[in-house]
Amino acid sequence: MILSQRKVIIFGLDAAPPELVFDKWLDYLPNIKHLVSNGISGKLESTIPAITCPAWASMVTSINPGKLGIYGFRNRINYDYEGLHFADSNTVKEETIWNILARHGKRPIIIGVPLTYPLKPVHNGLMISCFLTPDKNHQYTWPDGLKHEVERVSDGYILDVKDFRGVEKEQVLHTIYEMTKKRFKLTRHFIQNEDWDFLMMVEMGTDRIQHAFWRFFDNRHPEYLPGNKYENVIFDYYKYVDDEIGQTLALLDDDTLVLIVSDHGAMLMEGGICINEWLINNGYLKLVHYPDEVTQISKHLIDWNKTMVWGEGGYYGRLFFNVKGREPRGIIPKQNYEFLRNELITALEDQRDKKGRKINTRGFKPEDIYTECRNIPPDLIVYYGDLAWRSIGSVGHKTLWANENDTGADDANHSQHGIFVMSGDNGYHAERRDGLQIMDVTPTVLDRMGIDIPWQMEGKVIQ
Ligand SMILES: [Zn+2]
Repeated sequence: MILSQRKVIIFGLDAAPPELVFDKWLDYLPNIKHLVSNGISGKLESTIPAITCPAWASMVTSINPGKLGIYGFRNRINYDYEGLHFADSNTVKEETIWNILARHGKRPIIIGVPLTYPLKPVHNGLMISCFLTPDKNHQYTWPDGLKHEVERVSDGYILDVKDFRGVEKEQVLHTIYEMTKKRFKLTRHFIQNEDWDFLMMVEMGTDRIQHAFWRFFDNRHPEYLPGNKYENVIFDYYKYVDDEIGQTLALLDDDTLVLIVSDHGAMLMEGGICINEWLINNGYLKLVHYPDEVTQISKHLIDWNKTMVWGEGGYYGRLFFNVKGREPRGIIPKQNYEFLRNELITALEDQRDKKGRKINTRGFKPEDIYTECRNIPPDLIVYYGDLAWRSIGSVGHKTLWANENDTGADDANHSQHGIFVMSGDNGYHAERRDGLQIMDVTPTVLDRMGIDIPWQMEGKVIQ
């Protein structure tokens, strides 16, 4: 294969759903529509779980979450009861697309790709770290000295919107626009002032605005009010992002390969299901005492000698088993482990809503969905209502059903499919592709840049 001189740019729009970008609003997004009309596009199936971490990491390594050993934002690091620990760039041991490109003498520029904090050296390239960066007092540019230029060009770079689930809607909205404006301005600055072969930027605003404002535009949401002042907030923001993309595309050579991708989609959230309340009601979990008010689950609250299973909250649910010889005070004999997992999957998948209707919950055994399970996988992964409901980990609700989540009001949950658009290849005209997987992105880009695809990659080249 001949090393191509062609440049590649990837615009990552976190959580951009195909139902909005392709089906509902494409005619109002002229720049994205132009790319779709002159390229390949389709729904991009995310990882299980369909969560920012691990999804972007799977995209940039073409390795599944089990083999990466990343099962969510937070992961178990020991078989004890100490709770979960945040994943970060140190958890990603596999080679990323920018490492591979740098190895081939290419110059990558990486802006805001999740799981790039703490920063690792980017040989031959530049990097701005992701939303996991605690604040700008921590190193967020590679090289470190680059931050002066970043601050000057962006007039105060914004890593993420803090408290996007908060009640200060005007403030959240303002900050989302500021953040996005600065990130695109910086992207264009690099395009014009740096030599580069590969540029990947991820905008978090799309995810943040959906979590904060979904109830105002989706008339199926129980709190939707027709004609409310935030009704068009998400739509207007997508038009704004499309315009920023358009301004950026105007700076590129005609033969630059352009991709727009998202790590997962978004959908209406029906509400929350209190995973630990359900375990208590069904005899799997015993508390030392049931709290009078809503309380985070913790090791001190659980009667470990009588507890078989406990759960974690999040956009999806996770169950952990208290196994004899594995957990410090485990009670499930190893020979009963599979029986119990099957019993729980059956019970969870049969769970009904308040009206007695099945909600289509799915339970996954990690070894069934991953080729390998590094680090400590959950014993079961649960998609409540196929992600229409989120998992609530706290206890004291005195009900299984909760409308607010543990960390503040939230209107949208993640969905399994994001978007894929690739334009710049000769001869494509509005071609839709089915069955695209998030792990296909990196092999496809390497292929188009004339670089051999490393053997460990699991995705296929999109043709
Ligand atoms: Zn995401």
